[in-house]
Amino acid sequence: MAEPIDVVVIGGGPAGLTAGLYAGRARLSTVVLAGPTPGGQISYTYRVENYPGLHEPTTGPELVERLVTHATGFGAELDRREATAVDFSASPYRVYVKDGVIEAKTVIVATGSRNRKLGLESEARLLGRGVFVCATCDAALYEGLRVVVVGGGDSALQEALDLTRFASEVVIVHRRSRFSACSCLSAQAEENPRIRFMMDTVVEEIIGDTVVEAVRLRDKETGEVRLLETDGILIAVGWEPNSELFRGQLEMGPDGYIVADGVKTSRPGVFVAGDLNDTRYRQLVTASASGCMAALEAEWFLTRGG
Ligand code: NAP
Repeated sequence: MAEPIDVVVIGGGPAGLTAGLYAGRARLSTVVLAGPTPGGQISYTYRVENYPGLHEPTTGPELVERLVTHATGFGAELDRREATAVDFSASPYRVYVKDGVIEAKTVIVATGSRNRKLGLESEARLLGRGVFVCATCDAALYEGLRVVVVGGGDSALQEALDLTRFASEVVIVHRRSRFSACSCLSAQAEENPRIRFMMDTVVEEIIGDTVVEAVRLRDKETGEVRLLETDGILIAVGWEPNSELFRGQLEMGPDGYIVADGVKTSRPGVFVAGDLNDTRYRQLVTASASGCMAALEAEWFLTRGG
């Protein structure tokens, strides 16, 4: 078998691509398993305007293209296959792909996170037919229409504000009496004449045969059930880590986030970057920064044992 790769990065979002950039630049043999469409969550962002130095806003896909060019320019190999399983029980570590296995001296896990769902049958059935998860991607489809946004965190309020550029009315439905979002966002939402609030309210059902027509809501305080007509419903109830691949291989918390000391996981030589162990910041710049840290740790692990 060929010599193990110095650094195998699993995940091709900003964290993984930055790790690839740093590892490649350190002249380590580097493979980034990015899947068929590199980029992760940032690919769905229409306007990136808070990445230091990029004062002229760019799009998520454009930034991803630049990150890929940057990482491969420093020698990282972009592999569009997906990891299907891992074995971190002994070194060299084994990362399985559809048609083979890659041996690695170090691994950086950076598979990111995905939108949490409400778990309703109607939500899955009407996804893409009025149920959606990203205002940046789909807001323009709701020009002059009514949209319900579910959630009470930063995402829900930010997405609701973004939607008001298009939708005629946005109703934020939240299951508590207070938002957990920062006051800067909740204040903006409260001042926006296109936004209404329904607090202490849960979505019981999304109504519609082929497209969303209404939502059935229940007031948690009074128990009152009512139908609210709407053209769309945006689910913004948080994120879940894409960590199933690492179950039994890396220590993780009850919520599925990888447990780490900085970027060091429970396995020597396996490092984590990006949303996979970040429940707090989840920014493009923090994901990239942790990718850099993971690659530096991998380099130090290989050259001086940690
Ligand atoms: P979050 O802070 O975890 O908030 C999730 C919200 O959804 C909470 O209000 C939660 O209510 C609600 N929720 C969860 N499960 C639910 C369910 N099954 N049914 C109904 N409601 C449910 O998630 P987030 O808003 O996506 O934010 C995640 C991170 O990204 C945060 O660190 C945030 O600061 C960051 N972020 C920042 C920005 C920005 O800087 N502009 C924008 C977006 C996100 P409970 O409180 O009842 O659980």
